[in-house]
Amino acid sequence: MRRWFDLITLQTEELGVLLAREEGKPLAEAKAEIIYAASFVEWFCRGSAARLWRNHPAAGHEILILKQPIGVTTAITPWNFPSAMITRKIAPALAAGCTSVVKPAEKTPMPALALGAGGGIPDGVINILPSTRAHEIGLVLTTHPLVRKVSFTGSTAVGRTIMRQSSGTIKKLSLELGGNAPFIVFDDADLNAAVTGAIASKFRNSGKTCVCANCFYVQAGIYDSFAEKFAKAAIALKIGPPFEPGVEQGPLITSKALAKVESLSATHWPKAALAGAARHPLGGTFYEPTVLVDVPEDARLLREEIFGPVAISTTEAPFGGVKQSGIGREGSHYGIE
Ligand code: ADP
Repeated sequence: MRRWFDLITLQTEELGVLLAREEGKPLAEAKAEIIYAASFVEWFCRGSAARLWRNHPAAGHEILILKQPIGVTTAITPWNFPSAMITRKIAPALAAGCTSVVKPAEKTPMPALALGAGGGIPDGVINILPSTRAHEIGLVLTTHPLVRKVSFTGSTAVGRTIMRQSSGTIKKLSLELGGNAPFIVFDDADLNAAVTGAIASKFRNSGKTCVCANCFYVQAGIYDSFAEKFAKAAIALKIGPPFEPGVEQGPLITSKALAKVESLSATHWPKAALAGAARHPLGGTFYEPTVLVDVPEDARLLREEIFGPVAISTTEAPFGGVKQSGIGREGSHYGIE
């Protein structure tokens, strides 16, 4: 694993270019993802598996609590972090002594194949299985008796299917699902800090992040000044292709994603847009960073995950959702358990 980490690190540039080309995120963000992806390999090879064995002294005898490698694990991953979502799942599996079958997202198979090819890892230990037939592959991976654990990151709808299919063989599950997280600003907030935080949270990876803030609730006293400053900062973001210097916002992943963002935001409240709410003049799947105010409580925008134009996730911290946003934790010692 250490050697694999070294190889990924040595190839940060090449892997970053491959990722940016396929996912569309700015090159600097793509390279940062490679470093983040490698950090899971490095962290989990630092002996974290050894911490799973515990002795509990008891009166007159000793109780040995033994956690064992579970066996074949699978990882079904999304396109928005096509490298890091894979290492976050398979590095702890490897460290624990498990093999993995990875089904990367059909839109971004290349970073997965590049990661899987490296490191002198013995044949059969990491298996990358790209396919456009997600349904069929998913059915095999969630019902095959040899598969003991399924780790999935993606939509709540597919997560539900995976849970149902896995029940036949009582597989262990980790599910990282969607959600719609609000960002709350009170009257006594430091306005500049709130706007900086809001921009980082909403527009990281052009909003294509499952922990992006989806909506903003702002207390009345600060509402107008926050909205104005936030819209100004959104308009100032530099949009463009991943390889152009200084670009902060890339395109959306597909024209279907563009149509979804458009249907959620553009047409309903034309007067509500302080910024954007339109396709970007660059064409393709570029969409302008958009700030809408006075959105009604019952709008779809406030219920569905947007995934258009966050943060707070590191290797050492457990990461995971609550309620219908997920089961299990990734990263940290919880990740290997
Ligand atoms: P997104 O909207 O982020 O693409 P999905 O949940 O559709 O979210 O996709 C996440 C991952 O799940 C992708 O790798 C996709 O191919 C896979 N997937 C989609 N449908 C199924 C399914 N029925 N069974 C297993 N995997 C699936």
